[in-house]
Order: sequence, then structure tokens, then C-alpha cells
Amino acid sequence: MERYKVIIVGGGPSGSLTALYLLLFRPELAGEILILESKAFPREKICGGGVSGRVGMRLEELGLDLSDLPRVPIAGFAVCFREMRYYPDFGNDRCFVTRRSLFDHLLLRAARERGAEVRHVPAVGAFRERKGLRVLDGAGRIFRCEVLVGADGVNGRSRAWFGVPHARKKTLLLQVEFPLEMDVPDLHDRLVLDFSPPRLGINGYAWFFPSLDEEGRRVVNAGISGGEFDGRAARRLKDAFLTILSEHPEIAARAPSDLRFKAYPERCFSPFQPLATERVVFVGEQLGVDPFNGEGLGICADSAAAAAGVILEALDDGNFSFRGYRRQLFRSPFFPLYLIGTTYWPQSRWRQPCFLFSMSTRRPPAGGLNVIDYYARVFSGSIPGEELYTLRFWRTVLRDAVGIIPEWLATSTPSKR
Ligand SMILES: Cc1cc2nc3c(=O)[nH]c(=O)nc-3n(C[C@H](O)[C@H](O)[C@H](O)COP(=O)(O)OP(=O)(O)OC[C@H]3O[C@@H](n4cnc5c(N)ncnc54)[C@H](O)[C@@H]3O)c2cc1C
Repeated sequence: MERYKVIIVGGGPSGSLTALYLLLFRPELAGEILILESKAFPREKICGGGVSGRVGMRLEELGLDLSDLPRVPIAGFAVCFREMRYYPDFGNDRCFVTRRSLFDHLLLRAARERGAEVRHVPAVGAFRERKGLRVLDGAGRIFRCEVLVGADGVNGRSRAWFGVPHARKKTLLLQVEFPLEMDVPDLHDRLVLDFSPPRLGINGYAWFFPSLDEEGRRVVNAGISGGEFDGRAARRLKDAFLTILSEHPEIAARAPSDLRFKAYPERCFSPFQPLATERVVFVGEQLGVDPFNGEGLGICADSAAAAAGVILEALDDGNFSFRGYRRQLFRSPFFPLYLIGTTYWPQSRWRQPCFLFSMSTRRPPAGGLNVIDYYARVFSGSIPGEELYTLRFWRTVLRDAVGIIPEWLATSTPSKR
């Protein structure tokens, strides 16, 4: 029976990044980490492919060479509700859109080159024993390890093996791609996020990202989130997406009439879910994605760094409860953005533009930032997440909110549901 210190189930970004952080903090773990990945890489992953500046900073911290990775550089958001538009800048040039198949392959290769062993075989089960864990793979092999990392994504089974379900239900997304032969100003170097779906009865957002296909040709990567899992969810999402697309005439003009949608589940991050259990830590989409902007890679990178820290402490002191993991995650850069983004959901029940968006339509004083400018700069990493805990930021919230509340109330129509 083979033994490892750490077994990581899943070779997506959260699994590879956990291995890379473990090896960065403690290079002598080379040969002691096993990644079990069920698919052959490069594998397709349905995703917008947006990589925020905060993730870019994590990749720099890990010393990864991304020079060969095809990408579209991104300068900011285009935040939309019906005909309203606001264009907050990121304030740095770290954000980009890429193809997840290539991005994930690059990370897994780097983890292998730095000393993690990678086997392309599924893990089919795991259980705790007196002094460690046993993990069973699809070829009938049994491995022993001290720590297991559940990095097996939204459909992964690792939580079920240890009886620690996620607090949130899965929701459905539809994604579509079509060629972008001529430049569209909003899609030149912006992530277009449209917060109109709540007014169509869907608690999600639509996105239009400038992206690249497998051959490096420009495409629009678009989609809609927030579908509930019932028999008609895909139909409702598709109709809502087409309505929103028609409100972006320049993009709609490039879309073919027979759009082919792909469906994929997603689960939103919740601070109240179990994040770890004895000898087991969950990372990446086993924790969820940001409910406001749909970013999952930020949580992948932050949870990988936090998990690596608590795993090394546990290996040193023999206490595998991972109680400190929650605290580490709450101190991570994604968390302040998550807190601010949750203001979206109460608004969405009234089918209104979210609070954050409403505030974003207030022009900032000359040279200043409004709420969504702050949000965009923290998203890109050009100002630190802690800025959202400062008095300066909350003064901005008050200033922008006082201006919009009467206008917002005057137009609100409570949901009939
Ligand atoms: C439509 C859509 C658009 C998105 N757009 C963005 C975006 O633009 N930007 C962003 O930051 N995030 C985005 N996300 C979220 C992002 O894709 C995820 O958060 C991210 O992929 C999670 O990475 P992960 O490594 O945790 O899981 P995954 O990428 O799902 O990787 C999990 C891996 O585990 C493997 N696996 C599963 N079970 C087993 C097993 N039993 N044994 C071995 N291997 C196993 C799988 O084969 C897979 O390779 C989007 C998500 C969706 C659905």
C-alpha cells in the first residue's frame, strides 16, 4: 500500500494550487503529495475563463510562467442593468480571460514539475482509520495518507464520503460561445456583467466576456446564472438570456440564430457550511463561488493558500481538526468582496438592480471612487480587500446610498412569488 502525506482529489485549479502552495511553503514535500484526477488533461471545463487580478497576484507569488498562455487582457467591468451602463476600471493590468482547458493544464503541469505525483484515475472513496486515512482509486488501489484535500469540484463526492454536505443547493448556469469577428466597444477589454436577470425572475446575472477559442480566435463567452433545478430551468434561463442579449444590440448582431447552450451546475459560497472535518480540508468549488460576480478562481487560489498553511501546521503538531481554517479563509482577499456582494441577493427578490449596482450609478466626486469602483479595484487586487472594512469605504457607501434610496423605492415592484 502506497503512503503519502497529502492526497488531493481533483486536479483542477484548486487541487493544483493547493499542491503548489504546499510545495512553495515546504519543498521537501516533493514526492509526498498525490493528486488523483479522473480526466485526461487538457480537459474541457465550462467556464467564463475570467481570471481576476487577485488570482494573477497569487500566480505571481507562486512564480508561475504564464507567458505562453493565450489570453485577452481586461481593463475593467461594464456593469449593466437594462440600458444603464457603468464602466469601473480595475486600476491595473493583471486581469485576463483565458481558456480554462489550457489554464488548468498549465497549473497541473507545474504541480507535477515541482514534485506532486499526478495519476489520472478517479478516487472512488475514502475513510478515516485510527492514524490517518485510506483512499481507494478506480483501479482498485488503496493509498494511505495523513490529510485528504477535497478539490473535486461542484459535482465531487468527497463531502459525501465524510458526511459533511454543503449548506447551499446547486444552481444551474447556461453558457454559450460564438465568434467575435469585429470589435464591440464593450467587449474590447471589459468583463460585461448584466444584473437584469432578477427582473425576469432569475436570481443571477448574465455575462459577456471577450475570449478565445481553442485555435486562439476571438469569441464571445456568454451565459446566465441563477437557474433553479426543476424541469423548466433551462428553458427559463434561455429565454431570459435571449431577452438580455437583445438589450446589447452590438453583441446580439454578432450572435448566430441557433445559439448552442451548455448547462453546468454551480454552488455559491456560504460562510456557514462545514469547510473541513478531521483530516479533511475542502477547497475551490467544494466551497463555492462568489454569488455576486460568479468568480470561483479567487476562492480556489485563496482556499488553496489557506489550506496549505493549516495542513503544514497539522503535519507539524499532529492536530488534524483544522479548526483554524475558517479564520484563515475569512482573512483571505475574496472574503470582503463576498460580504459586499451578498447585498445583491436581498435586492434581487424585488426584481430591482442590486443595491451595489444602484449605488454604482452615482457618479463619484472628481478624482474619487464610488462603491462599484472600489469593488472593481479590490476585485483586481489594485487595492487590498481590507479597504472594504475601512471608514473611508463606508462613508462612500453612505454617500452613494443616501442619493439613491428614494429613487430606488419609487420604482420598486415587490415580487409576486
Ligand atoms: C459557466 C461557468 C462560468 C464560470 N466562470 C468563471 C469565471 O469567469 N471566472 C472564475 O473565476 N470562475 C468562474 N466559474 C467558476 C469556476 O469555474 C470554478 O470555481 C472552478 O473551476 C473551481 O475549480 P476546482 O478546481 O475547485 O474544480 P474543477 O475545476 O471542477 O476541478 C475539479 C476536478 O476534479 C476532478 N474530479 C472530480 N471528481 C473526482 C474524483 N472522484 N477523482 C478524481 N478526480 C475527480 C474533475 O475531473 C475536475 O478536473 C465559472 C463556473 C461556471 C459553471
